[in-house]
Amino acid sequence: MPAPLPQIGDWTSFEELGRIQSKQLDTVLERAMRSPFYRERLAGRQPSALADLGVTRKDDLRAGYPFGMLAVERRELATYHESSGSSGVPTPSYYTAAEWTDLTDRFARKSVPMTADDTLLVRIPYALVLAGHLAHQAALATGATVVAGDCRSLAAPYSRIVRALHDLDVSLTWSTPSDTLVWAAGAQLAGYRPAEDFPALRALYVGGEPLGPVRRERIAAIWGVPVVEEYGCTEIGSLAGTCPQGRMHLWADRVLAEVRDPATGEISAEGVGQLVLTPLFREAMPLLRYDLEDLVELRSQDCPCGWYLPTIRVLGRAGSDIPVAGGSVTSRQVEDAVFGLPAEYGVMFWRARAGADALTVQIEAAPPFAADARAALAAHAPEALGVPVRVETVPVGTLVPLELLSNRLDAMKPRRLFAADEDWDAAVLTC
Ligand SMILES: [Zn+2]
Repeated sequence: MPAPLPQIGDWTSFEELGRIQSKQLDTVLERAMRSPFYRERLAGRQPSALADLGVTRKDDLRAGYPFGMLAVERRELATYHESSGSSGVPTPSYYTAAEWTDLTDRFARKSVPMTADDTLLVRIPYALVLAGHLAHQAALATGATVVAGDCRSLAAPYSRIVRALHDLDVSLTWSTPSDTLVWAAGAQLAGYRPAEDFPALRALYVGGEPLGPVRRERIAAIWGVPVVEEYGCTEIGSLAGTCPQGRMHLWADRVLAEVRDPATGEISAEGVGQLVLTPLFREAMPLLRYDLEDLVELRSQDCPCGWYLPTIRVLGRAGSDIPVAGGSVTSRQVEDAVFGLPAEYGVMFWRARAGADALTVQIEAAPPFAADARAALAAHAPEALGVPVRVETVPVGTLVPLELLSNRLDAMKPRRLFAADEDWDAAVLTC
């Protein structure tokens, strides 16, 4: 019989949480020895503690593609997933049916929880990765209704997503934070006011990209509902979520987390460093000290929510800053500056490029506010970013094309027979 999964409320101190982790750790180390990768790495010697081990890297998973990490029979697998970095070499991951209980359980830990009365729009990728399926299965387990919107699909252009949000009384959504802004622009183009004309909407679940408090608050104001942030990865699933106090907590009863100093390689229980994870209930693909390569701050501190789970702040990916004129900037810094502009300017979309002498930031702004928005950002950004900044305004529709928002074209099924008045050259799209 598998060990019962811990639930929030089962422990009331960090010491008790530590005991829950230690109790499971022997099983984790034992299961790891069933995977060819760890058998070889540990030369057949059963480790007695995590402290004896180095980190497992993404490169190790890639080198073991596809089933080098498999610790169960192939027939026990329920799903196979992969993510691919810039190298194009897939990072594989796989789960048994039993692991799916842990996965959906963790995703369902939300400060605005799903109920059987909810309609959830899933607007995040389904293809190969975990994210779409995670929310889909969690919703089914709760009894909620799922609208499988996907993203990156020709069958679900933004006009259909806005229509679905409105007509189907969607109450919850799951997407990147950026996508919620594109829906807002699409809704406005269709004549809707995002904060007023979607009364069924209760919350936006977001993840998949860094999100600062300034942009989070702006998105919440635009839609008039809370933005509930989620942090996770395809190899392990949901890792952290927002508590009712608005802090991100790591699911440390299910995944043991440590931080690694990228300079010294030293691993500590908390502090600032690269997030290193040991999932406690993984069967199909055990991972010991898996280095996610995300820079985080991890703290075991009390929070009024009473969850007794460490707080986590995701600081970004190591090396994600861009050099500019003797300094450097991150996407998050530019985002903070842009979304720090007054809400009435209506600026939602931006892009920036490093030049030899300055960072050029372009913002989409409508004529009544364009000059003020440019002046305000030009006055504030150089100090906030610590580099010279040139601000340009571009017309609405430049960065997020209006055709993208209004396009009603559906992907067509392959067709070979056409009527006399049909253009057969236009019918080449297939899906
Ligand atoms: Zn909390």
